[in-house]
Amino acid sequence: MKKFNFSKNIAALGLVWAMLMMPMMALAQTRISMPKNDYKVQDDVKVGREASVEVKQRFPILNDSYVTNYVQDVGNRLVAAIPSQFQQPAFQYRFQVVNARDINAFALPGGPMYINRGMISAAKNEGEMAGVMAHEIAHIALRHGTAQASKQNNIGTQLGTIGLIIGGAILGGQTGAQLGGLVATAWQTKYSREYESQADILGSQIMARAGYDPRDLAGMFQTIERQSGGNRAPEFLSSHPNPQNRYAAINREAQLLRVSREPIKYTRGFQDAQSRLGRLPQAPTMAEIERGASRGGNTGGNRGGNTGGNRGGTNSEMSRGNYSRNVELPSSRMRVFQGGNFLRVNVPVNWQEFPMENEVWFAPNDAYGNQGITHGALIGVTQTRTNLEAATEDYVNGITQVNNYLRQTQGFSRTSISGRRAYATQLAGRSPITGQTEIVTIYTTQLRDGNLFYMVAVAPQNDYSRYNSTFSNMIRSIRLNG
Ligand SMILES: [Zn+2]
Repeated sequence: MKKFNFSKNIAALGLVWAMLMMPMMALAQTRISMPKNDYKVQDDVKVGREASVEVKQRFPILNDSYVTNYVQDVGNRLVAAIPSQFQQPAFQYRFQVVNARDINAFALPGGPMYINRGMISAAKNEGEMAGVMAHEIAHIALRHGTAQASKQNNIGTQLGTIGLIIGGAILGGQTGAQLGGLVATAWQTKYSREYESQADILGSQIMARAGYDPRDLAGMFQTIERQSGGNRAPEFLSSHPNPQNRYAAINREAQLLRVSREPIKYTRGFQDAQSRLGRLPQAPTMAEIERGASRGGNTGGNRGGNTGGNRGGTNSEMSRGNYSRNVELPSSRMRVFQGGNFLRVNVPVNWQEFPMENEVWFAPNDAYGNQGITHGALIGVTQTRTNLEAATEDYVNGITQVNNYLRQTQGFSRTSISGRRAYATQLAGRSPITGQTEIVTIYTTQLRDGNLFYMVAVAPQNDYSRYNSTFSNMIRSIRLNG
């Protein structure tokens, strides 16, 4: 059975909804207010620090002290120009250059920031480079990473952390469980459109206060578009969409600001940095870096059999598996699987676990690979805006759309999970992996915040009777807190 990425569809719907409901912004002087945030300032610092460890392992940091110092100097000037109401004494803005060719930059909560070498090489002047940096500084100062997480479903965030809890408990305790999910995604967060324009506006204000011309940030969008030359969209534009509108909005903002008559543009430092970079051997692209990182033992190539959406490297583990006719039966010995402080469930000791964004998959050896699982179960949470019955139907429909060989063979029967009202239903069809009839049982219940909790049990019909008691034991063992 393949993965069905329900939360993603719902998230897309939610975005459309949010855009329709967004009030028209007032046009006068642009005042920015701090977005609502359930996290402590200290959490930003913690998340950023932990995620920066991952970034360092994942990406080559340029080892050229001249360029690094120069970028840090520009960064310090910008940081000193953050309006006082957005200054956080606990934040440490640190700027590093990633030795990658793509035009990109990203920032982590609490201060760590990464500018690709390709970005510095592409910029026409220091103002353009500083523009991107000011934009990223604004994301940090406005605490957009944790603000965005505050808007999202907490339970989902907790479940997303499961991988980190297993992978060596980067952060301990309950906060750790919640923050872990943030750490996992912090460096590849795509902010909402609203946050992007906030960062453009505050970035423009920071630039003007630091002696730059905000129009250089607008100019950088054009530089990036020109550089992309048609063959592939640069990273920065895919995570920062809508360059035309933003170009206009930044220029409008510049008219409201006091901009130096001789803004900083062409500097010695910038020229030297660019020419030093020009003499280095060509940098790899981000994709080449990622490929290099995943080299070794990956037989499958494509990931997890689903159409995308999973973050982190965890489910690429799954694609390394193989399928075989001889799958070991579920052990009668069970171990406790703990998903943050939110979920407890017993699983057979001989099942591997594959944490993903909002769910975790379990399967024995020889039963998982790049097309999903043939034996095992998955547990997860998905956002809903409706009641248990409708949410269950939606979820089941999603499963049959992605796994179009499956048909619902039973109606919904009532059951209970962790003392709550729950439903169970069965699907069946000829598995494209095994060529045999596969039985899929879907169990659902609702969480206190209204979201849907599910467990999906998968086994070939021939073996199903031997798996049935394992699945029942798992369902009975589930304890939900939330
Ligand atoms: Zn941005």
